[in-house]
Amino acid sequence: AKQREERNYFLFDSDLRERLQHKRLISKYLHSALEREEFVLYYQPQVNAVTGELIGLEALIRWNHPEKGLIGPGTFIAAVEEAGLMIQLTDWVLREVCRQLCEWRQDGMKLLRTSINISNSWFYNRNLMENLFDILQEYQLETDVLEFEITESTALLEEHYPLLQQMRDCGIVVSIDDFGTKYSSLNYLKHFPVNKIKIDRTFITGIGISSIDETIIESIVFVASQLGYDLIAEGVETAAQAEFLVRHDCPYIQGFLFFPPLPAAEIRRLAS
Ligand code: C2E
Ligand code: MG
Ligand code: MG
Ligand code: MG
Repeated sequence: AKQREERNYFLFDSDLRERLQHKRLISKYLHSALEREEFVLYYQPQVNAVTGELIGLEALIRWNHPEKGLIGPGTFIAAVEEAGLMIQLTDWVLREVCRQLCEWRQDGMKLLRTSINISNSWFYNRNLMENLFDILQEYQLETDVLEFEITESTALLEEHYPLLQQMRDCGIVVSIDDFGTKYSSLNYLKHFPVNKIKIDRTFITGIGISSIDETIIESIVFVASQLGYDLIAEGVETAAQAEFLVRHDCPYIQGFLFFPPLPAAEIRRLAS
């Protein structure tokens, strides 16, 4: 038995070593990508489908890999989290968004509120609010140009509530991303210190196909209006989906039907 234990231990150990080396390699790549500024932000416009007016932007990260070209976040965000680099990456995104907004304003562009995807780990960043105010001051921006998108799982962690409340109080919009995908109980909504809900694409794809998805959307719209949350639908690809949403009092839309995520220069052209 002792021998087997030792053997198992050895196996575990070598497996772990391999995993750690792999992790260390990924971490090294991501570190140097951060250092060399290989990340780039695309911006997806959000529109009022009734008036056609641009109402905001979502910043979405891409990795501009020197050999592989543009890589979407789906392939590296988890690795960033695993490598313990999420705080650093989010700090970079925040600064880059503020820098971009400042540049756009200097160009005479009317600023569009821009949302940033925030992962749970960023909330453990020390001096978060202080750093945030420093960056806003550096680029001479008001707090209301920023929106933070958090997930339902982050929103459920009560330890974050004081911070979320502080953000809201100072004028930053806090929204729940991918709403409806993780937790079905509506009860927890009443405790959320957020302003806004983003209806997940999984429900939007069901429009015209699944009466259950349509009913869920109608329920989200009803609850949001009763509880005073702003609302936007994401992943809208067809005119029929947009029509349904407009008809059901959700005119704010983000999706390929209107715009895909675009480079900053194209946003500049759109907004002028
Ligand atoms: P998300 O925050 O829910 O962003 C929406 C995703 O849906 C984006 O994918 C966007 O390109 C895509 N999308 C927008 N409209 C449509 C549509 O009409 N149809 C379809 N099929 N897709 C649409 P993307 O850019 O690949 O980002 C994927 C996820 O990666 C994001 O989901 C977000 O969770 C994460 N992410 C992106 N940028 C960042 C970032 O800077 N920081 C963090 N922590 N996560 C990020
Ligand atoms: Mg998002
Ligand atoms: Mg989303
Ligand atoms: Mg999503």
